[in-house]
Amino acid sequence: MNQKKQFVVIGLGRFGGSVCKELIQQGNEVLAMDMDEQKVSDYSKIATHAVVADSTDEPTLMSLGIRNFDVAVVAIGDNLQASILTTLLLKEIGVNNIWVKAKNNYHQKVLEKIGADRVIHPESDMGRRIAQQLSDENVIDF
Ligand code: ATP
Repeated sequence: MNQKKQFVVIGLGRFGGSVCKELIQQGNEVLAMDMDEQKVSDYSKIATHAVVADSTDEPTLMSLGIRNFDVAVVAIGDNLQASILTTLLLKEIGVNNIWVKAKNNYHQKVLEKIGADRVIHPESDMGRRIAQQLSDENVIDF
């Protein structure tokens, strides 16, 4: 039997929130983290654990034992500096698998350089998938 993976989702906006909900739905253990108290309170009812914390603060990450998580999802969109620094810290403390949402190509390049395992562009990734589905449907229609 597969051992359950432990996930930490940092940033509970629309993207991070939906990643978090689906991971929970699939039966995974999820720590939901955001520095916005209201967002954390919304997720405290469904996540395994939910915490108000600034992910750019290394001592906080250490005290939460983030290094022991199998996968970290960094879903901080607008604040590039916070996203990059968080990714760097997660890498430094030894998180194995780090997936990060990127806002633009510059952001993506930096994230790849500092060792993000997967960089996600929700809008363009989704656009590509939708186009693939549309052309598959066309094939079926003909
Ligand atoms: P959406 O996914 O809704 O489009 P977005 O991509 O615009 O959102 P933001 O709103 O910039 O993303 O950030 C997502 C969340 O990340 C916010 O709830 C914000 O409070 C949180 N966040 C930003 N910086 C940090 C940080 N340093 N530590 C923890 N959470 C943070």
